[in-house]
Amino acid sequence: MATDEQEPPRGRAGAGRFAPSPSGDLHLGNLRTALLAWLFARSTGRAFRLRVEDLDRVRPGAAERQLADLAALGLDWDPPVWRQSERLDRHHAAIDTLTAAGLTYECYCTRREIQQAVTAPHGPMGAYPGTCRDLTAAARAARRAEGRPAALRLRSRTTEYEIVDEIHGAYRGVVDDFVLRRGDGTPAYNLAVVVDDAEQGIDQVVRGDDLLPSTPRQAYLATLLGLAVPRYAHVPLVLNREGKRLAKRDGAVTLADRVALGDTPEQVVALLANSLGYTGSTPGALLSEFRSATLPREPWTLDPRNMVKFSRNP
Ligand code: GLU
Repeated sequence: MATDEQEPPRGRAGAGRFAPSPSGDLHLGNLRTALLAWLFARSTGRAFRLRVEDLDRVRPGAAERQLADLAALGLDWDPPVWRQSERLDRHHAAIDTLTAAGLTYECYCTRREIQQAVTAPHGPMGAYPGTCRDLTAAARAARRAEGRPAALRLRSRTTEYEIVDEIHGAYRGVVDDFVLRRGDGTPAYNLAVVVDDAEQGIDQVVRGDDLLPSTPRQAYLATLLGLAVPRYAHVPLVLNREGKRLAKRDGAVTLADRVALGDTPEQVVALLANSLGYTGSTPGALLSEFRSATLPREPWTLDPRNMVKFSRNP
């Protein structure tokens, strides 16, 4: 592999990560992203860390099963595993820093009001239209008196930000006044992910490319908080026969499902590896095949009903 001056020296600084939401079992799409995140990290001498993103949608026992599945596939990580719900004070401290700098405001809009405003002509797609940005003190007081729960939004000083992605290259995207703290007081994902990546020492973020459009927001927020922007690699998703993102209803797509059908964890790794053009059936064996520069750029379409087994020595 060509040396890249920005890479940390092997075995020293830097860490990659996998940050699943414990809303259920990981499916083959999640497992493939985890494998890629591990390969990106380990092939560059980085630590590999896990973070359970449990600020919403928690299913009891899911986090433990997710970790067990990663271990069963042979993915090792550097402890401790972080849980986002244990870091609320750090998230709120970052929100306070932004508020002290005049970079936040309360928003009383309902989801429906935002949707209606956003679908109005001329608004940038998916961006908050700024309804509550410049409310007078009287208007704010009136909305509070109505008992509307207030979310806290970023008072962004830009409308766009550019990031560099190892797979997508330069990517410029919308930065709107996105939510930092939800109406129920919970830190929003875009805030928590930035604070936690920085404090967990993550300098390499590998994740599904459905999150690419949020990345300019996160990178911009990092700069506002004086945090280093990590390197990014947004990897293609796994799709079902209809071209939609793979989901559990698509069939036998979790490790437990595959094992119940007679696959070994090695065969599942081999299946994921095959989708990337590799022949190994353990993460360690794949390290010698992995080349970030030649990763498939297209999604992997999977029909679980036609899935073939991959043996260790085909
Ligand atoms: N927790 C998010 C998810 O499972 C991933 C967030 C991230 O990788 O930044 O979709």
